[in-house]
Amino acid sequence: MNCTKCKTRAVIDLPRHNAAFCKDCFNYYVHDQVGRAIKSEKMFGKDDRILVAVSGGKDSLALWDVLLKMGYKADALYVNLGIGGYSEVSHAKVVKFSDTVAAPHGAVLHVHTVEQEAGAGIRELAMLIHRPTCSTCGTIKRYQFNRVALEQKYDVMATGHNLDDEAARLLGNVLRWQEEYLDKQSPNLPASLDGFAKKVKPLFRLSERELAAYSVLNRIDYIVEECPMSKGARTLLYKEVLNRLETESPGTKQAFYCGFLDKQRKPEASPTTMAEKDQAMLHPCTTCGQPTTAEICSYCKMMARAKVHSAS
Ligand code: SF4
Ligand code: ZN
Repeated sequence: MNCTKCKTRAVIDLPRHNAAFCKDCFNYYVHDQVGRAIKSEKMFGKDDRILVAVSGGKDSLALWDVLLKMGYKADALYVNLGIGGYSEVSHAKVVKFSDTVAAPHGAVLHVHTVEQEAGAGIRELAMLIHRPTCSTCGTIKRYQFNRVALEQKYDVMATGHNLDDEAARLLGNVLRWQEEYLDKQSPNLPASLDGFAKKVKPLFRLSERELAAYSVLNRIDYIVEECPMSKGARTLLYKEVLNRLETESPGTKQAFYCGFLDKQRKPEASPTTMAEKDQAMLHPCTTCGQPTTAEICSYCKMMARAKVHSAS
């Protein structure tokens, strides 16, 4: 198998593009896909300060790597969830990447440790307030990323969601006709006057397999194991189903998700989006000042409940 572009030996085939690439041409392809995503969705420019949400996994570290190599000003935030060995290993991988790859570009790593602020790791915290671990985790991560982005004056927050993540999420939302979530599936959610930072997903044109290959070929040392809390998650089932469809018919995931984005972009598709309706109802949390549709934001409510339960 030879590289479609330069005819030397290929290291990866991409059936959905009917192509195969050597390492250099594959790296060019990955950078080009990220560049197209940034441009088509008007995500950010060369002068903007970007905060990348890193977890230690292949996608977020690959995103940080690509943005730095493309010349963007990209710092990162890692939230240590306090999930035993998993958090220890992922934290170490992020620090190693930061020291060896990011720091020479002048990039900075911010770290937030859940245990330090809440007095317990994410699992204990979720048990204390009787909520599922992943929804507790979601509230904390959203809150901390927004807080750091606003406090440190970043122009935009970038996450490592890839094509597989977005297609699986879309499938889940469509299967249950969760229209309120469909509005929020855009790879570019603008900042709101009420205090939400702009959020973008520059990897939405690249698949999980392509990002794993990018990380391996570029010697990015990432945590291979998934978060232990993800076992049995419905998204994994949706990913399996989509992988089966992709094998039978290459290009299915891209056609599904990018077709959705095309339809969403048409002005008649959604005159007032749910995100816009939500924004209209936002005001500062009376405890911390971050935006919320209630009097007190869900993060502050969660922390207050955790304090009550740990004291009793
Ligand atoms: Fe958080 Fe759940 Fe994802 Fe683990 S699987 S990182 S607990 S949302
Ligand atoms: Zn609050």
